Amino acid sequence: MRRVYFDNNATTPLAPEVFEAMRPYLVEDFGNASSIHWYGQRAKAAIETAREQVAKLLHARPSEIVFTSGGTESDNAAILGIVEASRYQTKHVITTTIEHQAVLSTARAIEKRGASVTCVRVGSNGIVDPADIERAIRPDTVLISVMHANNELGTIQPLEEIGRIARERDVYFHSDAVQSAGKIPVDVEKFGIDLLALSAHKLYGPKGVGALYVRKGTILKPLIHGGHDERDRRPGTENVAGIVGLGKATEIAREHMAEEAVRLAALRDRLEAGILGAVPLATINGDRAHRMPTVTNIRFDHTEGEGFVIALDLRGIACSTGAACSSGSVEPSHVLTAIGLKHEQARSSIRFSLGRFNDDADVDAALGVLPAVVERLRAVSPNYKVPMTSDK
Ligand SMILES: *Cc1c(COP(=O)(O)O)cnc(C)c1O
Repeated sequence: MRRVYFDNNATTPLAPEVFEAMRPYLVEDFGNASSIHWYGQRAKAAIETAREQVAKLLHARPSEIVFTSGGTESDNAAILGIVEASRYQTKHVITTTIEHQAVLSTARAIEKRGASVTCVRVGSNGIVDPADIERAIRPDTVLISVMHANNELGTIQPLEEIGRIARERDVYFHSDAVQSAGKIPVDVEKFGIDLLALSAHKLYGPKGVGALYVRKGTILKPLIHGGHDERDRRPGTENVAGIVGLGKATEIAREHMAEEAVRLAALRDRLEAGILGAVPLATINGDRAHRMPTVTNIRFDHTEGEGFVIALDLRGIACSTGAACSSGSVEPSHVLTAIGLKHEQARSSIRFSLGRFNDDADVDAALGVLPAVVERLRAVSPNYKVPMTSDK
């Protein structure tokens, strides 16, 4: 059976060139980057090359890149770091209702420590209105945290406008760019961003490594305490091979970004059109224009997402009901309910996220099995009436 991986927003395969770049640092170049001898210097040089590669992707300076264990740590370090470093008496943070749990759970943690948080609602298109962010600003607002591309819908948030507002009101601006970095342009200067999170395993690099961009002059309290690695911002002996892999992954992504975006948008559009043409009562969730080229989130009324994913998996198609971390829970996606879907609508939605290693044959394979799967699921659904052919 042909296996098709359409869950690239959960994680991506490791690119072979990335693996090759990492290999020496897992074997002969094992030095500790803080050591002054030849071994240490080899590791240090590799890390500095990776720092330049990551900086280039973001239009940042290498000295503004801190390596972390991934997107979750970067989001935590940004939010906790700003709040704890702030000398305001009361501290207020603004974020949105559609953020990843890495941001939302951190927001809840700072609330428990006495800060206040405003979660700004998004429209039914899955996009936040910058004017709503501006209205939420208070004299004690220390940080605005808005993601770039949403992981479930793929919707792209208006960072440039929000950045301008943050700059004008003198509030720090963090963005979780885990889903966009390496896939669409991310420019910390153009977007007016002070802090930005990215993760290697979402862009064909290894798991367990990421980066936090920290604009020069930003005062951040470190999450963890230890030695002087990563300029005191993130102590601990560096994950050299992982960092090298992240660097290489960002370099490849940057070089092929424009043509890959076009190729993947065409694949995604063909998948989407094929589904909408073959399956009655299928609806796209979220804005179709301001959206990642790699994602489609589709609601199939009178189906249940978990069963749908399992049925497709049995036929070799891997996709998801939404965020990987919320799979297995009976709660509907907070992102889909935030755009106004009813619980059963949210639970009948499926995300297909495409990536570098997908091709036309994958789309054909999915289109070959999907309509029959939907039909079978609906046949056992209590409220579903088979539509007349003229309804199609
Ligand atoms: C995957 C993801 C994260 C978490 O990144 P990890 O490296 O897996 O910790 C954070 N935010 C978004 C939007 C994500 O998609």
